[in-house]
Amino acid sequence: MKSYKFIVNPKAGGGRAIKLVPRIKEIFTQAKAEHDFEYTSGPGDAIERAARASEKGFDIVVAVGGDGTVNEVLNGIAHTDSVLAALRGGKGNDFAIAVNMPSDIETACQDLLKAKIKRIDLGKVLDRHFINSVGVGFDATVALRVNKGVRPFKGVSAYIYAFFLTLFSYKQVEMEIDLGNGPEEINPLLVAVGIGSNYGGGMKILPGAIQDDGLFDICILDWMDKASLAYNFPKVFNGSHVKMKQVTMNRSEKVILKTGAQLPLHMEGEILFGDEMNFTIEPGGMPVLIGGSNK
Ligand SMILES: [Mg+2]
Repeated sequence: MKSYKFIVNPKAGGGRAIKLVPRIKEIFTQAKAEHDFEYTSGPGDAIERAARASEKGFDIVVAVGGDGTVNEVLNGIAHTDSVLAALRGGKGNDFAIAVNMPSDIETACQDLLKAKIKRIDLGKVLDRHFINSVGVGFDATVALRVNKGVRPFKGVSAYIYAFFLTLFSYKQVEMEIDLGNGPEEINPLLVAVGIGSNYGGGMKILPGAIQDDGLFDICILDWMDKASLAYNFPKVFNGSHVKMKQVTMNRSEKVILKTGAQLPLHMEGEILFGDEMNFTIEPGGMPVLIGGSNK
């Protein structure tokens, strides 16, 4: 039987993650599976804890939190023998959903115990790994604002407020993108690059993305006026934006994005900055635990 390290972010989902712990403990004790819990104390902590868990030989490292916790655990265990797993414990659970982990903790734990493993592609940019999707431009600027805090707003209302603040202040940035056929000038509102289809807690920005085809999916949303943006933006929640004339979808194993100035990139809850973003993909580079085996 496999051994499990649970890395719990006590702040994730406004306490949602930590509330799962007693039930996980009961199920894993009853199943006589080797398991242990650790609790994160701040940004970056889950990377260190996950790396140590892997060194100690834990087969499966489970992020109990949101996408930010998943990304840190991923960066702690990438290129080791440990497998990445996630329980839905945050506000945004895009990765856990992408690997079919159920929302119900009982069935999710049964999936963990079954330990069905699949290798999916591993992305890297600005010296950090990602397993789902990242965005540069308007969306990253909104995320940056939300991360900094827009009091008194929280959760979805914070996001909507930050969206409108950004809508009125966001300046056009010309970029150069190279998808393997040479550089091309673009004038985007945002560029999303990913392995999985969703980001930002449920936005279906790359609806056709396949996690193990060795290729990134890329969405380029062209610049548009503020009224069109406010009207069209909700389309990313169901993926219907791909039909808009301002949207170009691509697939490539190579993406180089030059922005001319330092711009934010949002990656699974983390904000990074760069002016040259060189995306690389490692086909099948990450073993992940797949849910949905109890249906
Ligand atoms: Mg793909």
